[in-house]
Amino acid sequence: MMRTALVLGAGIMGLSTAWALSREGWAVRVVEQDTVPNPRGASVDDHRLIRHAYGDAVGYMRMIDPAYAAWEMLFAEAGERPYVETGVLALAGAPGGWIADSRAALAGDGHAPIDLDAATIAARYPFLAPEGIASAFHTPRGGVLLARQIVAMLAALLARRGVTIERAAATAVDAARATLTLADGRVVAADALVVAAGPWAPRLLPGLAARVRPTRQVVVRLAPPGAVAEAWAHAPMLLDIGTTDGFYAVPPVAGTPLKIGDHRFAATTDPDGPREVSGAEVEAILALARGRIRDLDTYLVLSASACWYDVEAEERFVVEKIGANSFVMSGFSGHGFKFGALMGLSVARAVNDAALAPGLTAWAAGRTAPPPGLLQGLRA
Ligand SMILES: Cc1cc2nc3c(=O)[nH]c(=O)nc-3n(C[C@H](O)[C@H](O)[C@H](O)COP(=O)(O)OP(=O)(O)OC[C@H]3O[C@@H](n4cnc5c(N)ncnc54)[C@H](O)[C@@H]3O)c2cc1C
Repeated sequence: MMRTALVLGAGIMGLSTAWALSREGWAVRVVEQDTVPNPRGASVDDHRLIRHAYGDAVGYMRMIDPAYAAWEMLFAEAGERPYVETGVLALAGAPGGWIADSRAALAGDGHAPIDLDAATIAARYPFLAPEGIASAFHTPRGGVLLARQIVAMLAALLARRGVTIERAAATAVDAARATLTLADGRVVAADALVVAAGPWAPRLLPGLAARVRPTRQVVVRLAPPGAVAEAWAHAPMLLDIGTTDGFYAVPPVAGTPLKIGDHRFAATTDPDGPREVSGAEVEAILALARGRIRDLDTYLVLSASACWYDVEAEERFVVEKIGANSFVMSGFSGHGFKFGALMGLSVARAVNDAALAPGLTAWAAGRTAPPPGLLQGLRA
C-alpha cells in the first residue's frame, strides 16, 4: 500500500513538498482554499528574486547553491525553465551594514563580488543617480524566478504525477493525528501531514501565532521612459539596502514590468483584509527610490498591489515537526520563494526519515549546516 500525505496550501512550499513527496513514492493530496495559482498567496506575482548576497545571514547564503540545484531538478522534470539570470547590483548610501556584511560573506565563500565606483555605475546604468552611493558591488550570478509561471508549472506537473489538488478551506489542524477538518465538516486523514498555509498558518496553529505574524507588503509596477527603457531591459536586479530602510527593483524581464518594493515589514494585518493600495502607499515606495533612480517621476505607474507574507522576528524559517507525522513550513517572510524547491525536497526527506527532523529545523532557520543526508545529490 502506498503511504498517503496531506499537504495544506498550494503556494510554492506546499506544491514543492507535494512534488517531492510524490517523487518519494507517496500518494499526495493537496488542500487549497483558492484557485491555483492563488493570486492572494505570498507566492504568486510576476517575480521572486534569487541571489547569494544575504548580509550576515551566512546560513541562507550557503543555501543558494543547493536551491539552484533543486530548481534545476524541478525544471528538468517539468521541461520548462522559468528563470532569467540578471546578476545583482547591490548599493548603499553608507559603507557599513548589510552591504559590508554581504561583501565580506560573499568573498569569504569565494563568490567574489565586484566593487563598482560611481563613475562605472553612471556609465553602466544611466537610469541611476550615482550621487550619494557610498558602496556598490555586482555579482553575475542571481536572477528572477518567474513565480506565477513556476506555481502554474508545478500544479500541472503534479496533475501529471496523479497528485490531487482539492479546493477546500481547512478550519482546523490536528497535528497529533495528521488530520484536517474542512469547512464542510469532513475530517480528512493521511499517514503524514504538512501545513504550508503561508500568512494564514498562525490562525490554524495557535502555537505559531506567538512566533510568526502576517504583514501586508506593497509593490509598485512601473514603465520607464523610452530613453532608459533599453538600459532597464538589460539591468541587474537592484538591491539598495541601507541600515534602516531601502528598496529593491526587479528589472522588466520576460515581458514583465519593472517592479519596486521595500524591505520594511508592515503592520500585522489579516491576510483576508483589503488588497487595494492607496496613493499614499504608492508614494511611500516611490519616495525610497526617488533619490536613487534618476527622474523617477517621469516613469508611468502601471499598477500597485498588496501581498501578505508571514514574518518570524529574525526572519528565520520555521520548518518543524509538530506531531508524530506532521510538519509545519512557515515564517518565509520576504525571502522564502527562492528556497521553494529546496525546502520541498528537504521536508519530504524528513517526512521519510524522522531522524533528519531536528537538523532540518536548525538548518532551515539559517543556524547550522544541513544534517548529513538531507541534501544528498543536491550540491550545485
Ligand atoms: C511582495 C513580496 C516580495 C517577495 N520577494 C521575494 C523574493 O524576491 N525572493 C524570495 O525568495 N521570496 C520573496 N518573497 C517571499 C516569498 O514569496 C514567500 O516566502 C513564499 O512565497 C511563501 O510561500 P508559501 O507557500 O509559504 O505561502 P503562500 O504562497 O501564501 O501559500 C499558502 C497557501 O495556503 C493556502 N491556505 C492557507 N490557509 C488555508 C486553509 N485554511 N485552507 C486551505 N488553504 C489554505 C492559501 O490560500 C495559499 O494559497 C516575497 C513575498 C512578497 C509578498
